[in-house]
Amino acid sequence: MLKITNLNKSYNKTKVIQNLNLHIDPGEIYGLLGANGAGKTTTINIICNLLKADSGEITINNQPVSETTKKIIGIAPQENLLYKTLSCAENLNFFANIYGLNRETRKKQIQKTLTSVNLLDRANSPVETLSGGMRRRLNIAVALVHQPQLVILDEPTTGLDIEARYEIWELIRQLKNQGITVLLTTHLLDEAERLCDRIGILKNGQILAEGSLAELRTLIPAQEVILVQTNQKEQAIARAQEYGFTHKYYGNELAFWLPEPLELKEIIARFEGIAIDSIARQPVRLEYIYLEVTQGN
Ligand code: ATP
Repeated sequence: MLKITNLNKSYNKTKVIQNLNLHIDPGEIYGLLGANGAGKTTTINIICNLLKADSGEITINNQPVSETTKKIIGIAPQENLLYKTLSCAENLNFFANIYGLNRETRKKQIQKTLTSVNLLDRANSPVETLSGGMRRRLNIAVALVHQPQLVILDEPTTGLDIEARYEIWELIRQLKNQGITVLLTTHLLDEAERLCDRIGILKNGQILAEGSLAELRTLIPAQEVILVQTNQKEQAIARAQEYGFTHKYYGNELAFWLPEPLELKEIIARFEGIAIDSIARQPVRLEYIYLEVTQGN
């Protein structure tokens, strides 16, 4: 669906995209993860033909990016691109018009997209009367109104409460069920973990690691992670080392990587004689992989 080959972009001689390579298969949800400034929005703008790359190639359905490929893509930018005094339907009508949809198709598509983002009952409400979550769903509807094959969602849930987030996650799953390919940028690792078929970890404009969650998990030698609360951290670390557990700090939390899965009673037995307040078992989460990959370990 989308193929990026050796992409480079600099701003004022500062390289912000460096030999970027990635591909997105039809129908998958691809998550581009990266901290602020990693280069996510720049990459999206190049894909959408809003910005020119210095070198490299991007193809969409095997065609180089152009004004023609723009029509295959729908984009929901990070900042909502909506007219506040216009209603939901009027906003969609405006954008559908830009895409050249005729009157009849516009009418049909406005109904369909408002239904899919669960805003049909607010069709005539001005945007300024909508909640933040509703506005974000309308922003996604704008990306869908011309029936694109590839939808790009730039940080679609940043700043939303958990219920609004759940609604958008469900909407993204529905897009996949309809066969639409999704490129999602986020710095919310649980969002990527829940939704994405494949994930690319971007830092300083380079993909440092890429794959499904199962493939990314093979990058660190842990079968399971345990979070341990204790006042005897040094003793716990020394003991864990005897058993080949690698210790890590996630913020203030002490964690150990288990090289092989163990029964809880076996884990507890390893720390015998040390005052442990709690042990929480965790699968190898994307958060742990992301930190390893981006911190250069
Ligand atoms: P965020 O998560 O904060 O949106 P991002 O991953 O989308 O970040 P970009 O917006 O692509 O990152 O920015 C990548 C780098 O390029 C940053 O260092 C940014 O300061 C720089 N940059 C972006 N746009 C411009 C511009 N128009 N002129 C100069 N530098 C820019």
